[in-house]
Amino acid sequence: MPDTLLDRRNFYINGAWVAPAVANDFDVIDPSTEEACAVISLGSEADTNAAVAAAKAAFPAWSMTSLDERVALLEKLLEVYSARSAEMAEAISMEMGAPIALSQTAQVGAGAGHIKNVIRALKEFEFERPLNDRAPDNAILYEPVGVCALITPWNWPMNQVTLKVAPALGVGCTMVLKPSEVAPLSSALFAEMIDEAGFPAGVFNMVQGDGVGVGSQLSGHADVDMVSFTGSTRAGVAITKNAADSVKRVALELGGKGANIVFADADPKAVVRGVRQCFMNSGQSCNAPTRMLVERSRYDEALASAQEVAEQTAVDIASTEGRHIGPVVSQVQWDKIQGLIAKGEEEGARLLAGGTGRPDGHDKGYFVKPTVFADVDPEMTIAREEIFGPVLSITPFDTEEEAVAIANDTPYGLTNYVQTSDNEKARRVARQLRSGMVEMNGLPRGAGAPFGGYGQSGNGREGGEWGIEEFLEVKSVSGWNPAE
Ligand code: NAD
Repeated sequence: MPDTLLDRRNFYINGAWVAPAVANDFDVIDPSTEEACAVISLGSEADTNAAVAAAKAAFPAWSMTSLDERVALLEKLLEVYSARSAEMAEAISMEMGAPIALSQTAQVGAGAGHIKNVIRALKEFEFERPLNDRAPDNAILYEPVGVCALITPWNWPMNQVTLKVAPALGVGCTMVLKPSEVAPLSSALFAEMIDEAGFPAGVFNMVQGDGVGVGSQLSGHADVDMVSFTGSTRAGVAITKNAADSVKRVALELGGKGANIVFADADPKAVVRGVRQCFMNSGQSCNAPTRMLVERSRYDEALASAQEVAEQTAVDIASTEGRHIGPVVSQVQWDKIQGLIAKGEEEGARLLAGGTGRPDGHDKGYFVKPTVFADVDPEMTIAREEIFGPVLSITPFDTEEEAVAIANDTPYGLTNYVQTSDNEKARRVARQLRSGMVEMNGLPRGAGAPFGGYGQSGNGREGGEWGIEEFLEVKSVSGWNPAE
């Protein structure tokens, strides 16, 4: 192995860094250069079993620790995470190509924000409550579900890892994290942080691996009580089926195809904001507003602004400072996006900006041209499939009913967006949209708000008290005298 390659071949099991049971090296590719930047191991069944066994053995003691003890450890983790945030930003930029400024702010910041919010929500959560006034000796106890398998994707690595690990640790679960094999470096660093924070051995374990290997071994494992998964709908279905035999709880955070409804009375900046939001992180966000629906009287104006934003969107390697978008994560994703852009043209959508091929000046790296299609029919492939690249579809509409119908005409239901200055219309439309989240007029959802979807976007809710409840069992006890 050349010296320049970062060696991340060991797993974190039972409080120690251990070599894989069977060597199975796997290169991590830097999407800005298409070169290997690190090597990990893909785990085998023996590694999965060792990690699950460690989590199972640690559960009885960890689940009985006090909330104060667990919160103190999470506070320590937050301190370590913050102190090592520059390292984390570099790892994320290298493994998945986010521009360094985005990694330092939103990517790393999301992780810190979630740990902080989980700590706050834990302090407010009532883990023991009376049933009601009519049965004073009946208690409801909220208890950790047990050993959790946490399976995460590559697009917002620390966002997704912390949304699972922090509440699971906080309520007293033990766990095995299997991060994406495409972006494993941030999680290896995160495991070092857990170690540095001083969590007891076996409480948190991390095994690298792919979906067919460690992923499936975890979802079918008899000693795993719950799988919390973020990723594609395809993998979510496979995990659910595999988990069924052992009746595990499965929490799913899956794909999306968000609509952004721009009414004629919207803020003049709404279109520009929507295009930028779609292209952010090179379009690799499950909640990206990828279908812009524009009321016909503002349609031509919207097309002109969207084209201008796309043409002004700079594309560059991840390590370049400043505001631009980076490459997409991998050759597989690049090929998929190119195929979908070609399909858009074939099916008759009007290409306003971008298109197939690499942007000028980038013959290496998985770079995609910021692309905008106009006159997109809701039946076209680009309006239906999650593209996961910087590709926006724009469709005109004539009435509120039509806009809502197009927005809801998707198997997904993660985030929809509404732009209007009419408050009553905003509330009416928000209620009719079949999605777990609605963002209106460019206002972000608050810290600790639940994140999750309807339909094929999944069944889970992460963040705040909802994210805590996901990792809890409910126990009903009679004859309970509360402690004095
Ligand atoms: P992916 O489904 O290919 O992989 C996600 C993770 O699942 C990886 O760790 C992978 O190794 C593992 N995996 C794959 N197949 C598996 C199987 N059969 N059994 C067990 N594990 C398996 O997704 P990806 O390409 O890494 O991520 C992109 C997808 O994630 C997009 O569809 C995106 O919309 C979705 N996503 C959803 C959310 C959300 O909160 N709703 C957030 C981010 C990303």
